[in-house]
Amino acid sequence: MPLSPLRNLITGGAGFLGSHLVDRLMQAGEEVICLDNYFTGRKANIPAWIGHPRFELIRHDVTESIRLEVDRIWHLACPASPVHYQHNPIKTAKTSFLGTYNMLGLARRVGARLLLASTSEVYGDPELHPQPESYRGCVNTIGPRSCYDEGKRIAETLCFDYNRMHGVAIRVVRIFNTYGPRMLPDDGRVVSNFIVQALRGEPLTLYGQGSQTRSFCYVDDLVEGLIRMMNSDHMGPINLGNPDEFSIRQLAEMVRAKINPELQFIHRPLPADDPLQRQPVIGLAMQELGWQPSIDLEQGLDATIAYFRQCLA
Ligand code: NAD
Ligand code: UDP
Repeated sequence: MPLSPLRNLITGGAGFLGSHLVDRLMQAGEEVICLDNYFTGRKANIPAWIGHPRFELIRHDVTESIRLEVDRIWHLACPASPVHYQHNPIKTAKTSFLGTYNMLGLARRVGARLLLASTSEVYGDPELHPQPESYRGCVNTIGPRSCYDEGKRIAETLCFDYNRMHGVAIRVVRIFNTYGPRMLPDDGRVVSNFIVQALRGEPLTLYGQGSQTRSFCYVDDLVEGLIRMMNSDHMGPINLGNPDEFSIRQLAEMVRAKINPELQFIHRPLPADDPLQRQPVIGLAMQELGWQPSIDLEQGLDATIAYFRQCLA
């Protein structure tokens, strides 16, 4: 008898990363339940699968519990852009804590494996550079980013306590800045902001002097890392990101050169607690998952610019 397809639940499946993961699992012949409250996600990200016999869409908020029969839970539900997660910080904290608590309860009940989409924000404004998984971070507990940073930290804690107390199979990944097609034009994160501004002929908004750094991973690389992690024997936490580090000014210069070299930069105040530098150490992902990014920033920006050109046309 042929093996039945794996039953996957993807929370936040209508969002940027989640929708790319939906594509990969559906293309692999698996069953997918996409669960989302559409805060930052949209059905337009998954039109190819609506009505497909192996695909189901559920409007649900992860702060409420739910009963489903699944083998794997990919827990991505949580706004990721600072603009969105600071819109209602109490809701963000509830989503991180209660959402992860509810999904771990479900995983325990049905014996499912749960992968948590954690973040490099657990390192805060890091004093150690680049950041390995063993670094414990430098996080403000009371600032505007805390709802998200501390939310993800307690989500990681819950995963490990469910593993120790109840034997739930967990996989924890710390995702570093990831970009690509299907980010919202008004998402507020830096790659989409710069591309949308440049395509509209507007000045690019540099927060502070633009000397702060980030390391940008293209979405296809990241999703490959998530899948390898779910299939591995390693619980994590494990960093997934592209170790090539750029200042925000360098990123602005690259985007400007690709779209319109005449554009100006304008400066806006640096937001509170904005991390000054960020770069993943990915040795563990290379060793445990055989994973490393294959798409550099030039290539990834070209694909993302092509997407936004179509969106804004
Ligand atoms: P996104 O905002 O596009 O996706 C989040 C999805 O979760 C959206 O579809 C949203 O509607 C849904 N959602 C939010 N709150 C919910 C709730 N209470 N109940 C049900 N659904 C809810 O962001 P993304 O970039 O795709 O991020 C996905 C996950 O990856 C998030 O958990 C985020 O913290 C994590 N992550 C992303 C990055 C990145 O650079 N993209 C970096 C680190 C971590
Ligand atoms: N940033 C910027 N201009 C923008 C948006 C963001 O200079 O229009 C900066 C922001 O201050 C931060 C970096 O770009 O230093 C990355 O911001 P993003 O919101 O993408 O992600 P995060 O701060 O969570 O890494």
